[in-house]
Amino acid sequence: MIDFHLHPSYSIDSRAGIEAMVAAAIEKRLAAICFTTHIDLNPDRECLDYYMRCDGVLMRYCAEGLNKYIREVGEAADKFSDDIEIFLGYELSYGQHFEDRIEEFLDTYPADFVIGAVHCLENISITASSEAAGYFRATDIKKAVEDYVSATIQLIESGLFRTVGHIDGIKKYGRVFYGANLDTELAKVFAPVFDSMRERRVGFELNTSALRKGLSEIYPSGRLLEMAADSDVKINSTGSDAHRPEDVGFALDLAEKLISKMGLSVGEPLAGYM
Ligand SMILES: [Zn+2]
Ligand SMILES: [Zn+2]
Repeated sequence: MIDFHLHPSYSIDSRAGIEAMVAAAIEKRLAAICFTTHIDLNPDRECLDYYMRCDGVLMRYCAEGLNKYIREVGEAADKFSDDIEIFLGYELSYGQHFEDRIEEFLDTYPADFVIGAVHCLENISITASSEAAGYFRATDIKKAVEDYVSATIQLIESGLFRTVGHIDGIKKYGRVFYGANLDTELAKVFAPVFDSMRERRVGFELNTSALRKGLSEIYPSGRLLEMAADSDVKINSTGSDAHRPEDVGFALDLAEKLISKMGLSVGEPLAGYM
């Protein structure tokens, strides 16, 4: 099993040391892990998101901090190479209005694996508890779903990413406001997302963190997974989205069972470990 979605303490919402996460992964006998610290370059949210943590100190993204992250992951990869494979990555927030910033970042700091994710609609973070309620209260379900799907298609068509993170992440807080209707509305309009993914050869991750948020299904839901299977879109990775060592490897066995039970097709890097 592989866990390719881990937030070490370089992410502003994590306090987990890299070695503590590696130790947890080795204990769970994972074959490989990838650190995917948050990178959020949205110019309209710089005062909120344009930060990383380095040695416990909050700082704006800078070469010194980013190079330290890259170096520390590399050192862990060398140190633990007998026990586990360790890769360098990022989870990059996507927005069409800052594609140029994302491209420049990835050119400057290349990684082994990158997740692209929609976290904001109308520059409001729909995946952060502090902001999501305001967005969902003020937004009709159909508009929220349409805007989410459009943003996801833009992410895919940007050509910047091979792997989409928590592809129905809108349900993290949206489900509380819209109830089961959200699943129905998403399924109604999601086909073009998978069409676009197949054409562009973009895959997605199975992300188990939804289960820790009290949802009954992982990202994505079974309904969307059936649509992905019909469209022959590939699953590139499995990830816990852990922000604490104890969540490393969380429910990945369940994710793997879903892959075989539903006959889902698997892409790289996951294919190399199945
Ligand atoms: Zn995310
Ligand atoms: Zn994440």
